[in-house]
Amino acid sequence: MSQNPPDLRPDRAAATIAAADPRPGQPRIGMVSLGCPKALVNSERILTRLRAEGYGISPDYAGADAVIVNTCGFLDSARAESLEAIGEALRENGRVIVTGCLGAEPELITGAHPRVLAVTGPHQYEAVIEAVHAAVPPRPDPFVDLIPAGSVRLTPRHYAYLKISEGCNHACRFCIIPMMRGRLVSRPHRAVLHEAERLVAADVRELLVISQDSSAYGTDWKDRTDKAPIIALARDLGRLGAWVRLHYVYPYPFVTELVPLMAEGLVLPYLDVPFQHAHPDTLRRMARPAAAEKTLERIAQWRAICPELTIRSTFIVGFPGETEAEFQTLLDWLEEAQLDRVGCFRYENVAGARANDLPGHVPDEVKEERWQRFMQAARAISARRMAAKVGRVVEAIVDSVDADGATCRTKADAPEIDGNLFIDEDFAALKPGDIIRARVEEAADYDLWGRLVDGPGASGA
Ligand code: SF4
Repeated sequence: MSQNPPDLRPDRAAATIAAADPRPGQPRIGMVSLGCPKALVNSERILTRLRAEGYGISPDYAGADAVIVNTCGFLDSARAESLEAIGEALRENGRVIVTGCLGAEPELITGAHPRVLAVTGPHQYEAVIEAVHAAVPPRPDPFVDLIPAGSVRLTPRHYAYLKISEGCNHACRFCIIPMMRGRLVSRPHRAVLHEAERLVAADVRELLVISQDSSAYGTDWKDRTDKAPIIALARDLGRLGAWVRLHYVYPYPFVTELVPLMAEGLVLPYLDVPFQHAHPDTLRRMARPAAAEKTLERIAQWRAICPELTIRSTFIVGFPGETEAEFQTLLDWLEEAQLDRVGCFRYENVAGARANDLPGHVPDEVKEERWQRFMQAARAISARRMAAKVGRVVEAIVDSVDADGATCRTKADAPEIDGNLFIDEDFAALKPGDIIRARVEEAADYDLWGRLVDGPGASGA
């Protein structure tokens, strides 16, 4: 089995779409879903609504009466990929509706692809549904389509992304998401909980909480009395009995109050904190939230409360004005922080981002050299931390099983972006979604290999 180094863009993996057999005459819609997990959740919502209206979902271009392309516009490379995907859908199917982040720039899309049927922006659910109605009128079958439809999910059945808010109130200079998605709007606590309950009732064993800034959840509510509504939400989600994994949390002081929920076992001991840099001047130039926080102290405090905590983060090297001394501060910080899971971007201009106009852009070869040094340090830290797990018994969830073995994830591994635990003996009785215990026998830089201790087919420790 191959090693699985942490990736930055789990979203790049093409989402597979399960489709039931169409009934005669049923209109069918295809979906190409690009972008981050938040965009994936939007695709799921659109498909759920269409299916409830009697549309079938086509897993290929040939069987679709029209294709929706849900685009990403975060980086220039993602924009190019979105335009390419629209071109492919036009070539292969010809009837294309564009939505998602890049839809906020309709002229860019219609300039490159004048034949698209409609362009709608991010979160314009009604507009995208109307565009589908106009392109392919619904033909509901009252005997079949009135049966309440379950949600369409593009992730495997045993885990699901749970989006708790839209938009963002920050203004990081490298990011155009607030321009594309607007200001923070948090979903009501009850609505999130209700969705989570339905997912758990439908056999979801792991809920992945996502948003642009999960720590800011609920801070947009005018009548709130609670200073950090994410804590009550995390506690209530934790009581549902599924694994709950928190993504995109910023290192604000109150986050320390979330960590005891992890120590208690209510929420997975896993925090995905996008630090992006460690030098205060670089963070200020980036205009990052929580830029003034003493992050090393914060990390030490979290680990003292919950020693099992896994910390994942992403970083940007070569941000405009980044000096060698600033970069060295980042490397020193990383050595001290000993983060478990780390991804790194080389800074890239994004059309419309304020960072483009900053002075002191770093030459590509310097960015590349810093990226290599950063990743080398991160890999060495990861290898040490993985090696320390050999001999321990860990809980893991089974993601897939094939002839070679079972691919699982421990509590320290988010799907697609982190490593795996592989089991290649006594795995025949395992199935996706099983939660097992395994003894770790071998470790590589990012992945583990183990033997089943508890779970279907285990022969004992
Ligand atoms: S916190 Fe910063 S990087 Fe994240 S979405 Fe908001 S503005 Fe963009």
